[in-house]
Amino acid sequence: MAPDPLLSLRQVSKLFRSADGSSRVAVLDEVNLAIEDGEVVALLGRSGSGKSTLLRLMAGLIAPSEGQIQRDGHPLDGVNQDVAIVFQSFALLPWLTVLENTAVGLEARGLSRRELRQRALKALAMVGLEGSAEAYPRELSGGMRQRVGFARAFVMEPALLLMDEPFSALDILTAENLRRDIDELWEGSNFPARSIVIVTHSIEEAVLLSDRVVLLSANPGRVRGEVRIPLPRPRDDSTPAFRVLVDELYRYMTDPDLPVGATAPPPEVSNGPQGLALPPASLGGVCDLIATVPETGGISLAELADELVLELDDLLPILDAGELLELMEVDGGRLVLTAEGQRLKDASEEGQQLLLRRQLIDHVPLVAQIQEAILASARGEVEGDEVLDLLNEQFTGPEADAVFETFVSWTRSCGLFRYNREQDRFRLVAEEAAG
Ligand code: ADP
Ligand code: MG
Repeated sequence: MAPDPLLSLRQVSKLFRSADGSSRVAVLDEVNLAIEDGEVVALLGRSGSGKSTLLRLMAGLIAPSEGQIQRDGHPLDGVNQDVAIVFQSFALLPWLTVLENTAVGLEARGLSRRELRQRALKALAMVGLEGSAEAYPRELSGGMRQRVGFARAFVMEPALLLMDEPFSALDILTAENLRRDIDELWEGSNFPARSIVIVTHSIEEAVLLSDRVVLLSANPGRVRGEVRIPLPRPRDDSTPAFRVLVDELYRYMTDPDLPVGATAPPPEVSNGPQGLALPPASLGGVCDLIATVPETGGISLAELADELVLELDDLLPILDAGELLELMEVDGGRLVLTAEGQRLKDASEEGQQLLLRRQLIDHVPLVAQIQEAILASARGEVEGDEVLDLLNEQFTGPEADAVFETFVSWTRSCGLFRYNREQDRFRLVAEEAAG
């Protein structure tokens, strides 16, 4: 019989209450996932796809709304003692030394002071900080602080190490160095954990570090399928095999309907919040992106991200916005402009505004709806609260606020509505803008 996985999730769902309390929003829906002994699994999904929620479930910090989590074949009850987490950034305790910060999690284990010290020093040596054991956090650079974050997890010698975007708060070079070091450590024989789950929104990072990439969809978060990364370590991101996998993942990340591998569920009709959702991008960002797309043949997404020096998490909302407004299409990992997109690219600034107004009214139902409400009202205005109420029916509080801000920004920047924050009122910018 095959051994039980270190950790398995069966039909796990997590629901949070919507902001107005009238309904429950599924953040994770029927997630099935098993983490085997000895593997590195990357969880790749857009911002908001429930990755951090999934890690917190695995760590036993929150409980599933439905479904079951098993640890070594037994139901997980309460905090998972098998795991340690590395977070995006660390709240190190400023009054403790690096060594003391590292040992904090061990203190409940009843070890002698000597043992505590030895284990903390060993963990610090793994991240190259043995010389800074007596330093205080304020004396460390950001990269060194995050190394303490790793040491703090390593010292627990967890069966399973969970990492939530551990490199994303660091500058590019520091992140690259630390990533290399962690990867080298994993290849060596002394890694303090048996398996790793790393949450990331970076495709390159996923291909660089993992044995398989599990792709999550958003709204609600579901497992779309997985892509195996059969490359030898250490990996070279310039090899054709590496680029092929990166391009494949780009295609999946930019086309939510594309089935992933053989395990992808059939596409379902979702009644989720897509109807009112607005991607968190600015119209200026959409126009800038359009300006870089060549007239014919389009551009590959990996190239585009490179050229614009944009992280995938910042690029995807811009693509979503462009597609929503029918200015561009993403197909097979390439971006091409629609006829309207091409027109926008060639237009004067004023022409661009006019065209954006038209696309907004035609393709964003919420915009058309509010425009009508303003025109129908005696005072020529609509309360912001009314818009927010609509959003609060479908989204959790922070999401509703984010969509509201995007709505304000889009309708203002194309000269459609003016939003007065003190009075909480939307008005038309000018009569002629309405037509
Ligand atoms: P990711 O890490 O992929 O960006 P998260 O797991 O942080 O995604 O969040 C997924 C969604 O769940 C987001 O829309 C977020 O607003 C919502 N969410 C997370 N935690 C809570 C909570 N405690 N209450 C309400 N909504 C939450
Ligand atoms: Mg997160």
